[in-house]
Amino acid sequence: MSFAVAEELVVQPTDPRLHPIAEKVLGGERLTKEDGVALFETHDLLAVGAMADRVNRKKNGDRVFIVANQHINPTNVCILRNTCVFCSYARTPKEEGAYTMSVAEAVAEGDVIKDTPIREFHIVGGLHPKLKVAYYADMIRGLKERHPGVEIKALTAVEIANLARVEKTSYADVLQRLKEAGLDTMPGGGAEVFSGEVRATIAERKLVADEWLEVHRVAHGLGIRTNCTMLYGHVETYADRMDHLAMLRELQDETEGFLTYIPLAYHPDNNELGERLGRQGTATTGVDDLKNLAVGRLFLDNFDHIKTHWIMNTPKVSQIALHFGVDDLEGTVVREKIYHEAGAHTPQGLTFQEIIRIVKDAGKRPVERDAHYRELRAW
Ligand code: SF4
Repeated sequence: MSFAVAEELVVQPTDPRLHPIAEKVLGGERLTKEDGVALFETHDLLAVGAMADRVNRKKNGDRVFIVANQHINPTNVCILRNTCVFCSYARTPKEEGAYTMSVAEAVAEGDVIKDTPIREFHIVGGLHPKLKVAYYADMIRGLKERHPGVEIKALTAVEIANLARVEKTSYADVLQRLKEAGLDTMPGGGAEVFSGEVRATIAERKLVADEWLEVHRVAHGLGIRTNCTMLYGHVETYADRMDHLAMLRELQDETEGFLTYIPLAYHPDNNELGERLGRQGTATTGVDDLKNLAVGRLFLDNFDHIKTHWIMNTPKVSQIALHFGVDDLEGTVVREKIYHEAGAHTPQGLTFQEIIRIVKDAGKRPVERDAHYRELRAW
């Protein structure tokens, strides 16, 4: 490695495989999938973090985006209940614990947060066999009427495709109707891992990669910005992870429609996959969580934002992640259900003041954002 590289990196790589990668990072050169695999394989965690931190600082300085948001999960009834074997949340319609909120109940959920003005509702749930676009459109309109100025991030690509199937219409028609009701952005769930082999194991009937990407392509074409995710830490290989990230990077090159990338840690409790793998009680490790975030930052060179989902990664690992390439700390959330069913031991929500403290104690500057990452307030 050249002297310049050693000088510019706060932490010099000790693993020689990282030297050419560090050269590329410092030269602003795009990484390959093989580079990504090497970053996952290395034990030189601090060097990976230092490279990701450097790239992040160039894009975002010391800003960390936070949001006063609230999750609303309108139904856990899902037609894929028995085939997404990693899922602890879904129920069949008559199963114990199954619920579906009325539109009024879902709208009323939005009144819970009190300590700061709410900026974003994040709405995701199961693939209900009967609910139609009008149900979600009424919910979006109701929330916007009750909370003027709030932005709505709603429905994963999988939910959009299900609505298109239920109504026998196109993705574009569903998205356009939701946009007219007030949909601002879309979350990035349902991507899991794009590899056909992995999908056959963990979610055999879920939308395949091309379909998931197509829903997002159509959304971007309609001016709806979206997020994207990868569910890691189950049966996928490092090569699968990199194939997944490469597909996201390619679509971003094409549309520039993604706002943020969020690696999601698999939680093995209360689901069939966890039992099958004998993994119950063993969530992903902190090192793997940090690497997924850092590799996302380094490989996805056309993304502005990388988010740590503190609900899965814990607030403590998420705080450290702010030095591993992450500039986005999720939000207050308020009542998280999906990952808590899968054994997450984190709180169901954090107050806005707690989030600000986490960011400030990391030596970073909290910046309150809206769903489009426009800056609203900074501390
Ligand atoms: S992961 Fe989503 S689509 Fe699959 S069963 Fe759970 S709620 Fe349904």
